[in-house]
Amino acid sequence: MNRNGKDHGRLLSSPVLSASAAVHLGAAAAVLAHPPTWAWALGAVAANHGVLAAAGLWPRSQLLGSNWVRLPADSGARGEVAITIDDGPDPEVTPQVLGQLAQHGARATFFCVGERVERHADIAREIVRCGHCIENHSQRHRHDFSLLGPRGMRDEIARAQDNIARLSGSTPRFFRAPAGLRNPFLDPVLASLALQLASWTRRGFDTVNGNADVVYRRLTHSLRGGDILLLHDGNAALGAAGRPVILDVLPRLLDRLRVLGLSPVTLRAARL
Ligand SMILES: [Zn+2]
Repeated sequence: MNRNGKDHGRLLSSPVLSASAAVHLGAAAAVLAHPPTWAWALGAVAANHGVLAAAGLWPRSQLLGSNWVRLPADSGARGEVAITIDDGPDPEVTPQVLGQLAQHGARATFFCVGERVERHADIAREIVRCGHCIENHSQRHRHDFSLLGPRGMRDEIARAQDNIARLSGSTPRFFRAPAGLRNPFLDPVLASLALQLASWTRRGFDTVNGNADVVYRRLTHSLRGGDILLLHDGNAALGAAGRPVILDVLPRLLDRLRVLGLSPVTLRAARL
């Protein structure tokens, strides 16, 4: 099957997208067979688009295709938790984060921005050398990412994929959308690049809140095996002492995991 055929198959793989296709076909057929139904048909199509748009604005939704919001059940049963760290590499923060992880013997997953990997390729390589995984968080982290069409979305993701693989030496296997926002065009692009979408179980909102206590509590509230936690080494909010908040949260979080008998693993390791 050619790529378009494959993409089309994947586009309809989600029950909601299949239903959407049925709504469109049904509406068209109704208007053709009985033109006075046009107002009803238009309303059905508009409502359907509303559902798809809402699903794209809900980062943990499964409606637009496969999306990891927790680790696979086997991994959770082993007491594994994934710490994911977004928006880097950052020349000030990321090396300190790597040092904290090394002190605790912990592994993490870094969702990096392609153009930042181009600027800080040495740090990207260091992430991989330390045994962590580097994954795809788009080329430019555009705030209008979820409004892009299929071509724009492919461009953002494929360029990051090429840059990260070439400069870090490790080919990403997971993708996270900027701010977690997306649209129905994303899933076929990810399929063609063999990327799995990953969001999170819980996030600290640490790009907007510099209070380490609050961020820590958000992440550790009812923490259990299988959770995917989200922190930021890029765009990190600053705490009272002017320190990026992740640096005050991560050591406490790693201590807490140890007390609870949970082990931090990468998303790739959880998939095994
Ligand atoms: Zn981000």
